[in-house]
Amino acid sequence: MKVLLSFDQIQARVLEMGAQLTADYSGREPHLVGVLKGACPFMTDLAQAIELPLTLDYIAVSSYGRATKSTGEVKLVKDLDQGLEGRDLLIVEDIVDTGLTLNYLVNLLGARGPRSLKVVTLLSKPARRLVSVHVDYVGFTIEDEFVVGYGIDFAQRNRNLPHIGKVRFIEESPKE
Ligand code: 5GP
Repeated sequence: MKVLLSFDQIQARVLEMGAQLTADYSGREPHLVGVLKGACPFMTDLAQAIELPLTLDYIAVSSYGRATKSTGEVKLVKDLDQGLEGRDLLIVEDIVDTGLTLNYLVNLLGARGPRSLKVVTLLSKPARRLVSVHVDYVGFTIEDEFVVGYGIDFAQRNRNLPHIGKVRFIEESPKE
């Protein structure tokens, strides 16, 4: 694994994003909805970097698996604890890849009557998009690489890495 984004790079960018959101939401009280589990460290750091009163909630989704993924079928695993009526909703994602998860969430949560809805993601891989979905705030735009760390897992592990690494898969040599 090679370091793609160091702890310091991530923290500096999250502070910038927090300052931007503080300016953009001045006089309002944003409601941050983090997408479990990957967005947890980002959500925590970003919320601390926003110098406004705000509220937090979490949602969990999973895709139905690789075979059906391109159809965009996403399953709701844990719903929100609070309603969204009249709220300034900010969906907080770790990474937007094909865009299918985010597309599902925007449709699901947008129908619950928020006053506004914007999307923040730490990472975006635009080269991989299958659906066009608008992302308002992007921490880093990255190439089509498999990344782990800072909340993002590799088979549920490595979420605790303070940096983001890119994984290089070594292909097994064919058996004789
Ligand atoms: P999308 O629905 O946009 O294709 O997928 C978003 C989800 O796919 C992310 O929340 C994450 O769980 C997973 N994902 C996308 N790219 C990567 C990656 O590079 N590494 C890991 N570990 N997960 C990824």
